[in-house]
Amino acid sequence: MAVSYLYPEYEAARNNDRCIACRACERQCANGAHEYIADKDKMVCNDAKCVNCHRCVALCPTRALKIVKSGSVYKQNSNWTGRTIDEIYRQAGSGGVLLSSMGNPEAYPVYFDKILINASQVTNPSIDPLREPMETRVYLGAKPHLIERDAGGRLIENLPPQLRLSMPVMFSAMSYGSLSYNAHESLARAAEKLGILYNTGEGGLHEDFYKFGPNTIVQVASGRFGVHPEYLSAGAAVEIKMGQGAKPGIGGHLPGTKIIGDVSRTRMIPEGSDAISPAPHHDIYSIEDLRQLVYSLKEATDYTKPVIVKIAAVHNVTAIASGIARSGADIIALDGFRGGTGAAPTRIRDHVGIPIELALAGVDRRLRDEGIRDNVSIVAGGSIRSSADIVKAVALGADCVYIGSAALIAMGCHLCRSCQTGKCNWGIATQAPELVKRLNPDIGYERLVNLLTAWQHEIKEIMGGMGINSIESLKGNRYMLRGVGLNEKELEILGIKHAGE
Ligand code: SF4
Ligand code: SF4
Ligand code: SF4
Repeated sequence: MAVSYLYPEYEAARNNDRCIACRACERQCANGAHEYIADKDKMVCNDAKCVNCHRCVALCPTRALKIVKSGSVYKQNSNWTGRTIDEIYRQAGSGGVLLSSMGNPEAYPVYFDKILINASQVTNPSIDPLREPMETRVYLGAKPHLIERDAGGRLIENLPPQLRLSMPVMFSAMSYGSLSYNAHESLARAAEKLGILYNTGEGGLHEDFYKFGPNTIVQVASGRFGVHPEYLSAGAAVEIKMGQGAKPGIGGHLPGTKIIGDVSRTRMIPEGSDAISPAPHHDIYSIEDLRQLVYSLKEATDYTKPVIVKIAAVHNVTAIASGIARSGADIIALDGFRGGTGAAPTRIRDHVGIPIELALAGVDRRLRDEGIRDNVSIVAGGSIRSSADIVKAVALGADCVYIGSAALIAMGCHLCRSCQTGKCNWGIATQAPELVKRLNPDIGYERLVNLLTAWQHEIKEIMGGMGINSIESLKGNRYMLRGVGLNEKELEILGIKHAGE
């Protein structure tokens, strides 16, 4: 008999007094964990197949199910944790690289949770956002250093192309292929309704979604999947993906099993072939090379669209950003090491890169010190979880943020972290038709609009509390932030004082 070294991480605890053997859980679990034993008229569960996605729990009509952490634990200690032992067993069994999805779950500091926001008292009164106009609109793109007027005193309008957003939030790059058609439709419709933008990621643009062009960022990644002149012209902006926070320094890989039908056509690669984006762009080995691509894309779009360069937050991010700000790019997107992914090697996801808060503060300060902050707008991403995170990011220097995981959670994602399997029980990170239809795009759209409408209200309330009526006045305004429990170096990099100072 073969020895199983691995213990199930979760157990489906079924209350047999409540279970009516309706078999809904069996139908809902794409991992095949639940099974009906006819001769015993009984449901059983193979816990080893459970990824704790909560689909069966949510749809059990009698609330008979709950998923609990497995009671079987390895003989672990602080050094050899259960997870470490588990991963060694897995690799000893497979000989392969460990793969994971979503963002870095490790217990590194979350700086947003160690930063507090200021509020007005007495001399600088707060503003009531229900009665006073509050401006959350932002424009992304290079700004002129000087205001110029002609001989007649008229303003010379030489503003480079700008993106207009109703609030400082966009949906981050998530490709069609890694996400389902219905998830993409939800994002595109919500972006249009909200007056913000969503991002194709590196998978090209499905023909049905060209109509959302004014609310679309089209991405150009190292694999160049789905990139052609109409695609570039379809969006409101073009994003060059140089790096991704979840996997800095490596490329992407969408398995051939997901390259079917429309995904294959949209990416312009054969069905069943793995979509592998190389780690580097094979034509970019310097800022000068990057500049060539920036201007090629501007040329291809008749200089009508801002060009974004997206990089992962790594140790020398400030120097890289300085180069990008001089490359002709209009916007820099910084992606912190907690950023999500459809699939990444676990070791890369969990050990490479730096937190977005430190990267953002460092880049904003360096660009200001060098007098080139207005050359570019900054978009910060990598686990923005709430309106408070957005306010803190803006005060640390961001013009706007990207949200990814939060948008997926709004659509029903339960963070089971198994997107890489293609068996998303919530119809989000899958191409299996029977799973895709579980996400109703009308509901996905509505929930995304609700989430960001709620966040916009909260942003206005926080701004009002600070006595600020325009989000632009908050940008880089570190005086509005204080640290708690941070050391001198951390405070210095963030550019904020400690609470009490
Ligand atoms: S969904 Fe609930 S009631 Fe139906 S078989 Fe499963 S545990 Fe029993
Ligand atoms: S994987 Fe999801 S649907 Fe399947 S048993 Fe676990 S929680 Fe239920
Ligand atoms: S998108 Fe789906 S598979 Fe991925 S973490 Fe969320 S629920 Fe799990």
